Amino acid sequence: MILRMSSLFVRTLRDDPADAEVPSHKLLVRAGYIRRAAPGIYTWLPLGLRVLRKVEGIIRDEMDAIGAQELSFPALLPREPYEATNRWTEYGPNIFRLKDRKDGDYLLGPTHEEMFTLAVKDLYSSYKDLPLALYQIQTKYRDEARPRAGILRGREFTMKDSYSFDVDDAGLDASYQRHRDAYVRIFDRLGFDYVIVKATSGAMGGSRSEEFLAKAAVGEDTYVRCTTCDYAANVEAVEVAPPAPLAYDDVPAAHAEQTPDTPTIDTLVDLLNAEHPRDDRAWTAGDTLKNVLVVLTHPDGTREPVAIGVPGDREVDPKRLEGQLEPITVEAMDEAELRKHPTLVKGYIGPGALGEESPSGIRYLVDPRVVEGTRWVTGADVAGSHVIDLVAGRDFTPDGTIEAADVRDGDACPRCAETGAGGTLETARGIEMGHIFQLGRKYAEALDLKVLDVNGKLVTVTMGSYGVGVTRAVAAIAEGTLDERGLCWPRNVAPADVHVVAAGKDDAVFAAAEEIARELDAAGVQVLLDDRAGKISPGVKFKDAELIGVPTRITVGRSLAESGTVEVQDRRTDDRQDVAVGSVVDHVVAVVKA
Ligand code: ATP
Ligand code: MG
Repeated sequence: MILRMSSLFVRTLRDDPADAEVPSHKLLVRAGYIRRAAPGIYTWLPLGLRVLRKVEGIIRDEMDAIGAQELSFPALLPREPYEATNRWTEYGPNIFRLKDRKDGDYLLGPTHEEMFTLAVKDLYSSYKDLPLALYQIQTKYRDEARPRAGILRGREFTMKDSYSFDVDDAGLDASYQRHRDAYVRIFDRLGFDYVIVKATSGAMGGSRSEEFLAKAAVGEDTYVRCTTCDYAANVEAVEVAPPAPLAYDDVPAAHAEQTPDTPTIDTLVDLLNAEHPRDDRAWTAGDTLKNVLVVLTHPDGTREPVAIGVPGDREVDPKRLEGQLEPITVEAMDEAELRKHPTLVKGYIGPGALGEESPSGIRYLVDPRVVEGTRWVTGADVAGSHVIDLVAGRDFTPDGTIEAADVRDGDACPRCAETGAGGTLETARGIEMGHIFQLGRKYAEALDLKVLDVNGKLVTVTMGSYGVGVTRAVAAIAEGTLDERGLCWPRNVAPADVHVVAAGKDDAVFAAAEEIARELDAAGVQVLLDDRAGKISPGVKFKDAELIGVPTRITVGRSLAESGTVEVQDRRTDDRQDVAVGSVVDHVVAVVKA
C-alpha cells in the first residue's frame, strides 16, 4: 500500500515543541511521529507507529529464533502477587496504584516478574518442562519522577520483557547466554552503536547483570571503559579495586590540631603542608577523609541517617550511592536532622563521632580505598580542628564499605588491577536500551515456584529476566542517526523505503511519480508518495522529506521533461544521481534490497 502525503494523517511543524529538550524528541514531534497526551505519555501517529512496529518485528523475530514463546499479560494487575514479593512497597511512588469499585487494590504493571512466575507455576511441575523462555511486548507503567526527552523516558512505554526458567544454575547460564546473543543480533539489526556493560540489578535483585547502552551524549547513564582490557561497566556497577592493607607501625599517634580558616579541602591541605608536614611526601586532598551525611528512606518508610566517608579528592556520586542501595532512596541530611545529633559538628565531622557504637549511632560506611593502615586527616568533631594521622583499623573501624565515590577518567581499571595490566578507565554516556540479568531464585522462592527434578525431589526454579525498551529504542535510534535537516532512519526501521516527491506543476510529473510509486509498491518496496498538489511548493516537499527521514528519495521534477531523468538521493550521504525514468524502479529496488 502506498502512503500518500495528500491523505496521510500527519502535519509537520516548523517549530520545536516547547517542552522538548533532546533533538530526537523535537524531531519526532515536528515530523509528525508522536504527539504528547500528558507528561511522559504519548500518542503514536501513523508514521511513528510504522517505525515502532518494525522495531517490535525485529525483536520478535530474534526472540522467536531462540525459542522464546510470546504471550501477553494484562497491564492492570492485582496487588497480591506484588505484595508477596514486597514490590508493592519497594517500588514506592514509581507505581501507578488504583482501586476498583469494591475498593480492591490494583496496579499498572511496571514490570512483570510476578506474573510470569505465577503463570509457570500454574502450568508446569516437572524438570521435563524446562528450560522455558517466555516473552511479551507490552505496555508498562512507571510514574517516573522525571519523565524526560519524550519517549526516551515515558510514564507509559512499551517493553519487551522475557524470562527464562531453569532447573539449575548451569541451565540459567545457558539461557542467559542465549538471550545475550539474541540481544547482540537485535541491537545490530536496529543499527545501534552500542556497548555491553556490567550493571547492578537494582530492585530486581539477582547476580550477573549486563546492560546494552546506546552511545549517546544525551544518555542518562554514565559508563566506563578500560583503555587496555575489555572491561566496561555502568558507573553504578564499578567496584573499585581496594589497595592492599598497609603496615602502620611507623605512623605517629593521631593528634588533633587547630586548623582555622580552612573552609575548603585545598586550604586545609595548604595549611597541613605548611604547619604539619609529612616526613615522606606532601599531603594531598586524597589524604583527607570527607564524611558526608545522608538520610536513607527504606521501602517501609523508615528513615535512617548514614555517614559516607570518601577521600577528600572525590565527591559522593548520588547515582552510584543510590545504585548500591536501591530500592532505598537517599537524600542529603538537612539542618533540622543534623541538630538531632549534638555530637556532630558541621564541617568537622570525623570517624570519632560516627558508627553504630558511637553516641550518634549513625552507621558509618566508607569508600573501599579506606583499608586498614591508611592514614587520614579528618574532622576532630570540634569546630576549627582536624585530627591528623588517624589510621584506619588502628584508630577507627567503620561499619562497612560502600561504592559511592565518583569514578573518573584516568581511574585504575578494577580488572587490570587484578591482572597487573595497568589499564585506566574512561567515561562516556549512553542510553540504557536493554538489561539482562540472572534473577536466580528470588521470585521463585517468594511465589513458591518449584518443579520435580530428575530424582523426584522438589527444587526451586531459577530465573533470568531480560528487557528491551521498545518505544525508547525508537527515540534512541532517532537520536543516534538524525542530522541538522531532520530524522534519518536506518533502512531496517524506516517508516518507508522510498519517498517519491512529485516536484512540479505538470500533470506529467504527477503521472510519472504515480507510476514509479505503483511499480515500486508492486516490487515490494514501501513507498511514501508526496502527491500533494496545489499550493505546496517543491521546497516545502523537500523540507518535509528531509524532516521525515526516509532513507531514499526519488524526485520527479523538471529533468523529466528536459532529459527523461529523475533524481535518486540518499538521505544520509546526500549523494544524488540522475537516473533514466525507465530504469529508476530497478535501480531503487537494488538499492533497497542491498
Ligand atoms: P532506567 O534505569 O533507564 O530507569 P530501568 O533500569 O529502570 O531503566 P528496567 O527495569 O531494566 O529499566 O527495564 C528494561 C528496559 O525498559 C530498560 O533497559 C529500558 O530500555 C526500558 N525502560 C525502562 N524504563 C523506561 C521508561 N520510563 N521509558 C521508556 N523505556 C524504559
Ligand atoms: Mg535496568
